[in-house]
Amino acid sequence: MNKHGNIVLHELKGGAIKEGDTVSCIVDSQRRDDITKNHTSTHILNSSSRSVLGSWVWQHSAFKEEDHARLDITHHSALTDDEIVKIENLANSVVDKNMSVTIENFDRGTAEQKYGFKIYQGGIVPVKSVRIVSIEDFDTEACGGTHVKKTGEIKLVKITRTKRIQDGVVRIEFVSGDTALNYTKQHDVDLARESAELKDKAKLKEKRQEQKQELRERLPILVENITECKIGTNNVDKIVVDITEPGKPNFCSAMNDQYDEFFHISLGERLIEKDPLMVYCGVFEDGDRIRAIIYSGEQVGKDKKAGDIAKAVSEVLGGAGGGTQRFAQGGGKDKSKKNDAIEKAKTMVLGV
Ligand SMILES: [Zn+2]
Repeated sequence: MNKHGNIVLHELKGGAIKEGDTVSCIVDSQRRDDITKNHTSTHILNSSSRSVLGSWVWQHSAFKEEDHARLDITHHSALTDDEIVKIENLANSVVDKNMSVTIENFDRGTAEQKYGFKIYQGGIVPVKSVRIVSIEDFDTEACGGTHVKKTGEIKLVKITRTKRIQDGVVRIEFVSGDTALNYTKQHDVDLARESAELKDKAKLKEKRQEQKQELRERLPILVENITECKIGTNNVDKIVVDITEPGKPNFCSAMNDQYDEFFHISLGERLIEKDPLMVYCGVFEDGDRIRAIIYSGEQVGKDKKAGDIAKAVSEVLGGAGGGTQRFAQGGGKDKSKKNDAIEKAKTMVLGV
């Protein structure tokens, strides 16, 4: 079946038919069942909204499909969370009470006299006899649609979203039946996952704080060990230290995964303070980028400017960089060039 505006097209199997032919139709019972529940829920929500919000609430329009539905009501302002909860609770109390849904036909005059004009929630029906759908004493409407026999069949009504769609009209989007049960189940799963993710984030943050604190305590010893290195290539905690003859530039580099931006900045700054002949080069991954941090000591900074080194290193990494004589940074995207980048810096400083 296809719906184009107000025209309903039914698909036909086995070629065209002639006038007078008999065709057998199959109703998609699951779909029909779901729409039925959504339809009765529409009536329930409409009356619930009127009870909670006020007598001016009127059904403006409604739309029901098997997996979602919406009811537009006349109301002056957007619904508050409190109002939504109250409407939903009232609707579900009607479901829980397992009220009977009865269908009777009256002639118009009798129906209007008996129930008043509020029966025309779905619009005035231009026929002599009206079909009245009543949910016990809770709701009465003129309606030609399919309905459940008992409200308990609906199982659950869940408002998924509300929105003020135009002046004086508020849209209530909702699900009912198994769709509503699945919706709340999925909602609970989402909530649990979100809170787990938050917890993980908090833990990670805590861990980083701890690492920073640890580093603060360890840094003076690390700097001490590095500056006490003998001539040649040394290794201190996976930090490579090249010490040359006295009076010539020294070079120190680190690119181990355990070291982050905070580490490189803290170490570089302290190293060049302690050894004015030192050039420090730290390389680390930051998301999908490789970043480099360069510090140049006071006595070598003129010849071996941090800015120049950062620029050259960044080129190797496929990016750009720069800075001052003392401090510079840069980076690129080529993760395979981490070693080459450090070698580049080393050559610039030591000239080998
Ligand atoms: Zn209806």
